[in-house]
Amino acid sequence: MKTIGLIGGMSYESTIVYYKLINEMVNERLSGLHSAKMIIESYDFDEIEQEQSKENWEKLTEILIKSAQKLEKAGADYIAIATNTMHLMAEDVQNNISIPLIHIAEATANYIKEKDINTVVLLGTKYTMTKPFYKDKLINDYSINVIVPNSNQQEIINRIIYKELCVGIINDDSRRAILDIIADCTKQGAQGVILGCTELPIIINKANIPIINTTQVHCIEIVNRIIS
Ligand code: GLU
Repeated sequence: MKTIGLIGGMSYESTIVYYKLINEMVNERLSGLHSAKMIIESYDFDEIEQEQSKENWEKLTEILIKSAQKLEKAGADYIAIATNTMHLMAEDVQNNISIPLIHIAEATANYIKEKDINTVVLLGTKYTMTKPFYKDKLINDYSINVIVPNSNQQEIINRIIYKELCVGIINDDSRRAILDIIADCTKQGAQGVILGCTELPIIINKANIPIINTTQVHCIEIVNRIIS
């Protein structure tokens, strides 16, 4: 088995899920007492979020590159960033290490293609929904049509992610608000919904259209790579 180097803590709520899913999937595949070989670099998310809100992407890129290099030196065979948003720096990270980075949007796009879905609604942080790094990959590299919620809806989802889900608050009103947004985007032609924030599957596990759980899809790809 190869070793995954996981860059996490963004937030710890979803890194816990990564740790659990990756180990469970490895155990399912190899049985017995098998579990995943994993090295985790986990941040203080408050420090990261402060830089995000200042849009200080250069500093965040440096931080992520340093972590990836540290994990490579420590013996990781692959790197995975356990958040959709911070894939904003994925290309720079990949260019500064010599081991492969397992990209969450690529794993997600491959899953969508397998399911024969052509049009999706992308939910995530305001950065993921508005910046091109995620959407454009799906549109240009995989010919997937991407709908994003309107700006008012984006604000609602972004607030729920940072103020509730990243600190373990699960609120029924928030769940209903997200489901209403998904239903609204379905009217615009969405055939599936990308839960493009690794905390969103903590609150949403069913909607009126198929769910694409990026945390799960990413973990499946990680396990495929470390075991093959
Ligand atoms: N984990 C979230 C994501 O998948 C949001 C936290 C972050 O800003 O990294 O985008």
